[in-house]
Amino acid sequence: MESQIHKIHQQLVNKEISCTQLVQEKLELLKQNTHNTVNSLLGRQALELAQKVDAKIANGEEIGLLEGIPFGIKDVYMVQGTYTTASSDLLKKYKSSYTATAIQKLLDAGAIPLVKENCDSFGHGSSSENTIFGAVKNAVNPTLVGGGSSGGSAVNVAKDYTVFSIGGDTGGSIRQPAGYNNVYGLKPTYGRISRYGIMAYASSTDCVGPIAKSIEDIRIVLNVMSGKDVKDQTTYKSETILKEAVLNADEIKTVGYFKNFIENDAIDADIKANFLASIEKIKAKGIEVKELDFFESDTLVSTYYTLAMAETASNLSRLDGTNYGNRIEGDNLKDTYSITRSDNFSEETKRRIVGGNQVLSQGFSDEIYLKGLNLRDQISENFEKDFKEVAIILSPVTPQAPPKIGDSLKDPLAMYLSDAYTVGFSLGQLPTLTVPQGTATGLQITAAKNNDELVLKFANFLKDTI
Ligand code: GLN
Repeated sequence: MESQIHKIHQQLVNKEISCTQLVQEKLELLKQNTHNTVNSLLGRQALELAQKVDAKIANGEEIGLLEGIPFGIKDVYMVQGTYTTASSDLLKKYKSSYTATAIQKLLDAGAIPLVKENCDSFGHGSSSENTIFGAVKNAVNPTLVGGGSSGGSAVNVAKDYTVFSIGGDTGGSIRQPAGYNNVYGLKPTYGRISRYGIMAYASSTDCVGPIAKSIEDIRIVLNVMSGKDVKDQTTYKSETILKEAVLNADEIKTVGYFKNFIENDAIDADIKANFLASIEKIKAKGIEVKELDFFESDTLVSTYYTLAMAETASNLSRLDGTNYGNRIEGDNLKDTYSITRSDNFSEETKRRIVGGNQVLSQGFSDEIYLKGLNLRDQISENFEKDFKEVAIILSPVTPQAPPKIGDSLKDPLAMYLSDAYTVGFSLGQLPTLTVPQGTATGLQITAAKNNDELVLKFANFLKDTI
């Protein structure tokens, strides 16, 4: 699809539409909340901002590319003065006192936030059913899940309720819902975009990223949000990715894929056949395709969940009702902590806190946590070796089509295993993009660290190839 951002920008500049009218239309659609994508609307502020954009245009002033473009924000980002609930009972009434760096950069560029979007509570989930706001419904088939954890964001983009949305991806939460709803979703290289102001899930893999309908829109939003931030010591300075730079993929001569992802009992027969058919089309264009060896998906899933649970148990320990959240008084302080946390965290979040504290506890941490860290190092080494041989790794996004609403809640283990293809790239901190092509739930394009540009190049190549 063509760039929605460029299209709307031109319409605004040419006065074919007004920004107020555009924002009003989108707010109206969001208000109906047909797919449970909305946690809260930012209507009044959005309309005020839209009027300012219209006034500028009426005055003959120039407007920036993102000025007046309506977007959505997963409800785990701090935006000053807005409810920031993480879809949880604990923070149901919490309002942010500051704004996340990535979001501030978009506001500075003039983009207009419309909505805080439904998601799995604290990013814990793969279906956007673990939420107090009702399960997010899939954009294509509303009896299926919207995917998770950034389900509300992906569905809003797919339904054109927002032009783009900002999700968060710890183990696949941008890429998987993008795949389930046929849109683009990028997890950039870890550290390219500041995490300051996103609620921490697993800090060593948490990434901020855009969901949109075109590669160009992903590029535009990525550029605006990227950059070193003194408030996040893991950020680094990156070059702007130029529009022309991603149009030509001639430098990509070799692509690899993990044999054991495809030759596996867990993969759906159609996803497998369509993935292999895509590989044939790539070969037909003269690109060499190599089969690569990798860790079994079970190992990837268990390593990821061991580390993610440990980190989330530690990150969420600050939420005890003292400084934030819905405090419930008990007979004494200890009771107060205990009741506040027991009554306000979801089953899924509690499962992860209990599991994570077990992983970190004395007597277990050497055997479990340190082993997880060691495996993670081996996974990263494996990637480094692979990227000496191939420029791009291609994989399906998920082994199966989206489940029916209700199924994942009944079987958490099956839900964890559905992350088999996304979590490895998170552990490697690599840039990975879901494109809505190739299989029913899309394809993932991955490159070596800091090679986000190459990922976008290959996406453009794939758009014309398969
Ligand atoms: N589904 C994965 C999990 O539950 C990934 C979630 C995410 O990336 N936030 O941990």
